[in-house]
Amino acid sequence: MTEPLPVDPALVTAAEALTADAAVARHEDLAEQIRRANRLYYVEDAPEITDADYDALFRELVAIEAAHPDLVTSDSPTQRVGGAPAGGRFPEVRHQRPMLSLANAFSPDELRAFDARVRRGLGLPAAPEPAEGLTYVAELKIDGLAISLRYERGRLTLGATRGDGTTGEDVTPNLRTIRSIPERLAEPATLEARGEVYMPKAEFARINAEREEADLPLYANPRNSGAGSLRQKDAAVTASRRLSTWVYQLLEDAPNAGQAALFGETAVGGAATVSSQSGALARLKALGFQVNPDVAPGLDIEGVIAFTDRWREARHDLPYETDGVVVKVDRFDQQERLGMVSRAPRWAIAYKFPPEQVETLLEDIVPYVGRTGTLTPVAHLRPAKVAGSTVARATLHNLDEVRRKDIRIGDTVVLQKAGDVIPEVVRPVLDKRPPDAREFQMPEACPVCGTPVVRDEGAVRHYCPNPACPARVSQEFGHFVSRAGMDIEGAGWAVLSQLLQRGLVKTRSDFYRLTVDDLESLERFGRKSAENLHTAIQRSRNRPLARVINGLGIPQVGETTAIDLARWVTAQVPPGEDWLPRIGAFLRQVAREDPERFAEVEGVGPTVSQALARWFADDATSRALDELAEVGVEPEAPAIVAASGAAEGPLAGKTVVVTGSIEGFSREEAEEAVRAAGGKPAGSVSKKTDLVVAGPGAGSKLAKAEDLGIRVVDADGFRRIVTGEDASGETNGGAGSA
Ligand code: NAD
Repeated sequence: MTEPLPVDPALVTAAEALTADAAVARHEDLAEQIRRANRLYYVEDAPEITDADYDALFRELVAIEAAHPDLVTSDSPTQRVGGAPAGGRFPEVRHQRPMLSLANAFSPDELRAFDARVRRGLGLPAAPEPAEGLTYVAELKIDGLAISLRYERGRLTLGATRGDGTTGEDVTPNLRTIRSIPERLAEPATLEARGEVYMPKAEFARINAEREEADLPLYANPRNSGAGSLRQKDAAVTASRRLSTWVYQLLEDAPNAGQAALFGETAVGGAATVSSQSGALARLKALGFQVNPDVAPGLDIEGVIAFTDRWREARHDLPYETDGVVVKVDRFDQQERLGMVSRAPRWAIAYKFPPEQVETLLEDIVPYVGRTGTLTPVAHLRPAKVAGSTVARATLHNLDEVRRKDIRIGDTVVLQKAGDVIPEVVRPVLDKRPPDAREFQMPEACPVCGTPVVRDEGAVRHYCPNPACPARVSQEFGHFVSRAGMDIEGAGWAVLSQLLQRGLVKTRSDFYRLTVDDLESLERFGRKSAENLHTAIQRSRNRPLARVINGLGIPQVGETTAIDLARWVTAQVPPGEDWLPRIGAFLRQVAREDPERFAEVEGVGPTVSQALARWFADDATSRALDELAEVGVEPEAPAIVAASGAAEGPLAGKTVVVTGSIEGFSREEAEEAVRAAGGKPAGSVSKKTDLVVAGPGAGSKLAKAEDLGIRVVDADGFRRIVTGEDASGETNGGAGSA
């Protein structure tokens, strides 16, 4: 515990020069900054400083503690992993074995120092002597969120976040929505697999573009966006984000001696199935997990360094984020001998890639008009290559941001990519500021339609208030047909701009009036492609209500609010004849007579509430719902879960576990049917379970349900319950039926 972490000698020398008082003060200051950054990063998924800046603070803290060991206390950030669970949002899970962090290395020399420590620890000769029997596995360090997946007899039973390493959050329902996580393994093994949930770069860009349009705060990078998407209380939101996984650690219940002892356990019985990290990766793959293919086993430290060199640039071409390389001693028996120090194993280290920043000239700042009318200042840059691609434009978000960073036209600026994806102007290089550098001013009139620009009192954004502004309309319609909205396949920008230019589409409902002939008249369209697009349009009439609402492009309303609003409104206005017009009338009435009621919608605060009131009170905008109804748009209703948690339907308020294969339903469909009937699907059977739906292949959950006396039904019984045919009190059991 008191053994120091690997540390930068130059920083230690500087720390040693501090007086005792100065060291205490600096220690306190650093610890405080790191604690705050940890909270923002781990709990709120919204960091305010870059990872590189964070790492610099952390390294200095480690150095101060190395120079002044009496400052190491058990609550120092150097002794802790991650952040404690947010509290309340999810049930807590105590990890069977702690989930550790990793020590960091920032240069080839620090990797060599790691190798020297490993050799010493194993009693092997120092470099350059060969180290007999010692090899490293190099893996890409995935910049995601660490998760633990528990399988019992081959079935996924529990999925948790790392949390503070000891206690994480139970996010099983959310993890179940991720396709690359197997529900069932290739064999009925009982084990724990650990890995990283991540958001692909393209998905990050899509979500942030959408959030920017809806004037919602942006995610800083794919890691935070991924973590935010996973830690949603509503699994439907997680499902709407395309998250994926790489799994890299295997802990089997009949543990091999190495990892068991490492985690303070004794290996009892059961032959070790694998004896090395490379063996574990192969086994994970065979079991059905997604295992990153870019792994290099059998390396010495120079091989590891070559691997980091190779990926420093190549990583930019990967569809996901990696922020470094994790180096692991391959053999488990050697890992065991090395053990761990404070919060990290001694047999592994994370090499972090340097952040990539370049300087370039800011040639101009141009305001762009977005879907909601927001004027966004965009930096026009002399094209520069950064993190694998050439960048010529970067959003500066708003006028306050331009002023805060003091960025002027004509400046040389430092450019980087936020999370390797979104170009960001970090700061001006003041030494290079020419005397004629100019401050940017927001125009007084909309650059597209000339309407005077508005800035609401106390608000950050400037916007064009003209709902008919061509810039707004074209983007509004683009959003309406996009995947976030009606999801009309084939309706891209090229098609959309022709439809608008020719006046074929003037309102959203006009899409549904288009004939095959209309579409065939478009440039580069033949009969077949016109028919395809026509079919895609017709097919979109029954999208879920939340999609229709999201597609309306109401300011401040993004995917999550759209889902919550759809639920709330469905609870107030039951589906049936003329549903959409009734919803429209209801929302208009609320907006005009009782706008505070919007705060009843889950997660809606005053700002969003006001935005909703403004949009629905205005006939010009809220008419859209009636118009869509007129052309036959009939959205699908969501399962209603009222704010109290009570729901309507035959399974109202009941917790239901589905296990085994249910004839006529996929797992998702069965769970959807539970939700539609007002129930809550759950992943594991407990006293709180009200009903278990079991089919062929059901295992331990069925046995447990029987033990606890919980009612079990088969596919037929389930069908009768959800259709309301069987109303025999729906469920009879479970000690704790709510
Ligand atoms: P870490 O990110 O340096 O490394 C440990 C983690 O790497 C593991 O827990 C695991 O989740 C992950 N990992 C990814 N690929 C892996 C692989 N192939 N094998 C094993 N593990 C793999 O340490 P940490 O404790 O998770 O977080 C600290 C880091 O988080 C900081 O260095 C910083 O980059 C970032 N952070 C940033 C802020 C901020 O405000 N910007 C705040 C806190 C933390």
